[in-house]
Amino acid sequence: MRDADAVVVGSGPNGLAAAVTMARAGLRVAVYERDDVVGGGLRTLALLDSDIRHDICSAVHPLAGSSRFLREFDLAARGVRMLRPEVSYAHPLPGGGAALAYADLDATCAELGEDGPRWRSLMEPLVGRGHRVTDLFLSDQRSLPDPVAAALVASRILPHGWGRGPFTTERARALFAGVAGHVTGPLPSLPGAAVALLLGHLAHAPGGWPLPRGGSAEIADALVADLRAHGGVIHTGADVTDLRDLPPARSMLLDVAPRGFLSMAGELLPDRYRATLRRFRYGPGAAKADFLVSAPVPWAAPEVGRAGTVHLGGTQEQMFRAETETARGRPVAEPFVLLVDPAVTDPGRGAPGRRPVWAYAHVPNGDTRDPVELVRRRVEGYAPGFGDTVIAARGMSAARLEEYDPNYVGGDIAAGAMTVRQTLMRPAPRVDPYRTPLRGVYLCSASTPPGPGAHGMSGYLAALSALSREHGIRTPPDLSPRSPSPTPDGC
Ligand SMILES: Cc1cc2nc3c(=O)[nH]c(=O)nc-3n(C[C@H](O)[C@H](O)[C@H](O)COP(=O)(O)OP(=O)(O)OC[C@H]3O[C@@H](n4cnc5c(N)ncnc54)[C@H](O)[C@@H]3O)c2cc1C
Repeated sequence: MRDADAVVVGSGPNGLAAAVTMARAGLRVAVYERDDVVGGGLRTLALLDSDIRHDICSAVHPLAGSSRFLREFDLAARGVRMLRPEVSYAHPLPGGGAALAYADLDATCAELGEDGPRWRSLMEPLVGRGHRVTDLFLSDQRSLPDPVAAALVASRILPHGWGRGPFTTERARALFAGVAGHVTGPLPSLPGAAVALLLGHLAHAPGGWPLPRGGSAEIADALVADLRAHGGVIHTGADVTDLRDLPPARSMLLDVAPRGFLSMAGELLPDRYRATLRRFRYGPGAAKADFLVSAPVPWAAPEVGRAGTVHLGGTQEQMFRAETETARGRPVAEPFVLLVDPAVTDPGRGAPGRRPVWAYAHVPNGDTRDPVELVRRRVEGYAPGFGDTVIAARGMSAARLEEYDPNYVGGDIAAGAMTVRQTLMRPAPRVDPYRTPLRGVYLCSASTPPGPGAHGMSGYLAALSALSREHGIRTPPDLSPRSPSPTPDGC
């Protein structure tokens, strides 16, 4: 291949989405990835046993299942099977029992007592608008694709973003607090309520909270296959430390956090933009614990064992306290832990007497503690005997997560604190949030709108901006598997 028309740095879901979009538009694309394995937050690897594979970062994919980019890309037609658990997420309660968000909204409401009708009136209208609510959340935050969806969301965020919210039972309060906790920041908060509405309504939408059969890498593999089929090349083990080391290309799309951009291009940037990126704030960290276990998690409330995802955060009040303290940089003894036993949804992930368990705890940014013991104790609290099933474990502190992937600064898996300001203006207040002051250079990571999650929308939207401005291509390319594979000029 001759010099590329477009260079992409980083092969996370956003880097790959950008690369696929540029290649689909007929451009010659080269991707540079520092790791030996492509995929960024979509890697699935054998860690503790040669034939049991663990998702290193993302595991559950309500956003991949519903993002506009991946809908058009059509994962199903490419053989990626998204498996939907019967219970999207469960929240065991400290006094016994558990609150469950079933894929079926009726079943969910039936178990929420007097809060059942409130849960329904909160979620049902959002589910009823189909993809329009997701398209609103997963937009460039500069356009209003559906004013009705926007009005529905706005009227719900406010009451749920303050105080204890409108629910009256501990069951519903905890269920909502658990899904709001995905914002990884102080609670209650407006961004927390927004995330709870996005992920909460998807739990009851047709796609639910799915796991790709075989693990998250299946999504990355499908993107890589399409990129290569359209002439793209990927260089792994290629750590880009200076933008000037890259081969010349009309556009460069960087799947990196502002800190990474500053280190590879800082001196080239105008003072004001550089100062803005320096002020960009990073949120609390995640500390990852992977277990190889001999049996399903022995939940005290057996119904939790039907859930794809489990939230271990206790009552709403406990969740609020732990998340707020953690966001202030103070470690707590009982942090919020998210857990997935993938073989519940995808039995093929296990083998006789061996299965993976994926979990992470919210911890202060930059926390250096190995989380294995912390997480094990937290799980034991709701599943006595869990420790006896553990064959092997591996911990990755928040600080080490950044060494693994520099986009997770201090272990911040959202690639930037989800404050109100940074939710709307990532990473800088600009009309086009992807464009940088450097000619042809675009940011396309989760540090740009719409923010974190393995949806590929930041990469897709950054690529559309670059296609239009740098290459004069104003019609979004066809992403479907049925469209022909043009070989770019010169390949
Ligand atoms: C523990 C954990 C659990 C998560 N769980 C979920 C989940 O269940 N569902 C979900 O939707 N999301 C989840 N996420 C979040 C999700 O993984 C991220 O939001 C998503 O991967 C962001 O995509 P990205 O492309 O912006 O960045 P990344 O996926 O982080 O990819 C960035 C890539 O760029 C590379 N890179 C960075 N700097 C350079 C450089 N200088 N030179 C070359 N290459 C470079 C990195 O090596 C990496 O491969 C989780 C994240 C973590 C860490």
